[in-house]
Amino acid sequence: MSSLFRYIPSVDRFLQTLEAEDAFAPVPRPELRVQVGAFLDLCREEIREGVLTTPEDLAWERLVLRARAFVRTAVRPHFRRVINATGVVIHTNLGRSILADQAVQAVVDGCRHYSNLEMNLATGQRGSRYAHVEALLCRLTGAEAGLVVNNNAAAVLLVLDTLAKEREVVVSRGQLVEIGGSFRIPEVMKKSGAVLREVGATNRTHLHDYAQAITERTALLMKVHTSNYRIIGFHKEVSAPDLVALGAEHGLPVFEDLGSGNLFDFSPYHFMSEPTVQQVVRAGVQVVSFSGDKLLGGPQAGIIVGHKKYIDQIKKNQLNRALRIDKMTLAALEATLRLYVDPETARQAVPTVRMITAPKQEIQHKAQALQRKLRATLGDLAEIACAPGQSRVGGGSFPEQDVPTVLVRIYPRVRSVEALRDGLLQTDPPVIGRVEDGALCCDPRTIEPGEYGLIAAAMLSVLTRQNS
Ligand SMILES: *Cc1c(COP(=O)(O)O)cnc(C)c1O
Repeated sequence: MSSLFRYIPSVDRFLQTLEAEDAFAPVPRPELRVQVGAFLDLCREEIREGVLTTPEDLAWERLVLRARAFVRTAVRPHFRRVINATGVVIHTNLGRSILADQAVQAVVDGCRHYSNLEMNLATGQRGSRYAHVEALLCRLTGAEAGLVVNNNAAAVLLVLDTLAKEREVVVSRGQLVEIGGSFRIPEVMKKSGAVLREVGATNRTHLHDYAQAITERTALLMKVHTSNYRIIGFHKEVSAPDLVALGAEHGLPVFEDLGSGNLFDFSPYHFMSEPTVQQVVRAGVQVVSFSGDKLLGGPQAGIIVGHKKYIDQIKKNQLNRALRIDKMTLAALEATLRLYVDPETARQAVPTVRMITAPKQEIQHKAQALQRKLRATLGDLAEIACAPGQSRVGGGSFPEQDVPTVLVRIYPRVRSVEALRDGLLQTDPPVIGRVEDGALCCDPRTIEPGEYGLIAAAMLSVLTRQNS
């Protein structure tokens, strides 16, 4: 075994070979040396473990192929672009919403240069970072005031900490939800120091349940959008206007955690209606919070709007400083919100809204174009068909409401469908699809036309790879 070590080529030989290749040109020489060294350590380990057993296993042609792949993986960024072929528009694992071009440009401009982040250019004095979006938020939602924090979980924490610390918050038992495995209303409430007062039964809560729970310790009536699940059948929830009226009788504000919080009215697009933020504000709810990167289609953020009296208190909370958003988020959020000034502009320019409302015809055309591209590239390696299927909105929006789509179904002839799916996680860029009924399915709803060629190339590389 020890004699095999002699067959390992020198670091310098690898270095000379890789340095001559364009792909490695941007990698500094010391880093290339470190990674080649790590690769040769791996080879030695494989000799000791009996994985590499003959001089042929250590042939230069074989090793240089492996070294190239090893170094390429080691030096590329860990955080990378992927292609979302799942059809889940707001896919939390894939970064939720992608940004509108206008928002991307605003981020680039705001980061490449200095900015008026906290300077009032009218006076030359210190300004507020929230000034960039507050007026726009008020205009779009009809609220008197607003602010933005890191995400909606932070928004809920901040609202409860400000308005209900050490006092009671009345919430319907049916709305004590867990979202995405890490956000549970009762636990966030505990962190804020507010005391949860559950009322009603899981499936039904009446106005008198809230009324009976109100005492001198009550600070807030709270409504939570149940986002990723829905109770069907014998079910009752109290409407926002009724809760607001009850609160008014007792001098208590109502806070609604809307979750997704859409500014765009999706009801003409055949969705079971979800209230828009504007509607909730109009119903008189004093404080409303929602995410920036769900249905809104902007950056990760938690948006709080409502009556000035309460928003002013929230702005003064010291916690706010720990939860504040950075300039990149602000830039992207302002640019995204500006698109909503005209709903049709938002529909076309905000990718999340565009994908959800994409007409059937457009999806059909995209499916056919992707199918043609895959057939032309893959030839006999796979059978490609188009078939009706379902997309998902995701992000806890419009639960159990699938959106009809056309899936491009790939049946590989030379590999198992699972091997194709897994292999696509390693391509550059990776392609994330789903396996359904023995086919790898690509949903054109979440795929940009410019990505068809990348998908085809990725599949070709997986289906023609030597030893996988
Ligand atoms: C998604 C969601 C949250 C958490 O929002 P993030 O922006 O992910 O922090 C809170 N409440 C509800 C109802 C939600 O749907």
